[in-house]
Amino acid sequence: MTILETSVSRFSLTVDVSDTVAVMIDNADTPWGRRLHEALAFATSADTAYAVTPYVSVGLDDFRPDAPQRPDRPDVADCHVSGVLGKLAAASYLTARTELRESSSESYLSDGRTVTSVAVHRPFALVEVDYWLRRDANRPTSQYGYAYARRWEISHRSHIVPAGLYLIGETGDHVPRLTGVAGVEANRTDLVSHLFDLEGFGASTCDADCDACGAQWRAECGSWHFRAEDCPTDAWYFDDAAGIDDTTGTIACPACRAGRVGFAIS
Ligand SMILES: [Zn+2]
Repeated sequence: MTILETSVSRFSLTVDVSDTVAVMIDNADTPWGRRLHEALAFATSADTAYAVTPYVSVGLDDFRPDAPQRPDRPDVADCHVSGVLGKLAAASYLTARTELRESSSESYLSDGRTVTSVAVHRPFALVEVDYWLRRDANRPTSQYGYAYARRWEISHRSHIVPAGLYLIGETGDHVPRLTGVAGVEANRTDLVSHLFDLEGFGASTCDADCDACGAQWRAECGSWHFRAEDCPTDAWYFDDAAGIDDTTGTIACPACRAGRVGFAIS
């Protein structure tokens, strides 16, 4: 069972959202997630990222700056993962679907998270081409790529991303950051249930127990309201907790006052 470290302070009762994405990666069915992760990290940071069919030879002439863009070799560079996926989908390399979107306010997550499933139908690799512009051209033209470039070279090629099913984890309530990609078996159907079956991924239940009197409480769905679990003690709110120790992640026991109450989010 995976127990994630719980952060306990006056204003926080959370687990690190990246740790929950790590649970998804650790339980991947195939090792190919890192290929798609690498390709997405590349396409979100490069100036150009042309998707190409693997094993088809591409050379410098294929990226002549004065040639119109080929629909089968689209430039999929974009500063957002969703933009890259949209361009790859438009070229029929893959289909993508948002499976899960949670904000930090509705769970015990330190930040929001999004999981997108991607079915790669055709394997692809990405090629970055650097263009050096002529002095009289201020910027690339949108119509014909880098039409005014005087020199260009292939500066980077990604590994091949195999066909298959993937889950992309991004974190952040406002600006999503690419955090990890897991390869999953193609015959998996209910991907959201699969994720919540993984120990440590859910982060939706918080158990609390006292090391002295043994009282146990539980709160759910990001709530700070703890109800007694099979013991005759009162419910309480984390807002009212006394003696918070953020080093040990414990509070003074609201029932016996003598013991310390620790937390486990799962
Ligand atoms: Zn106690």
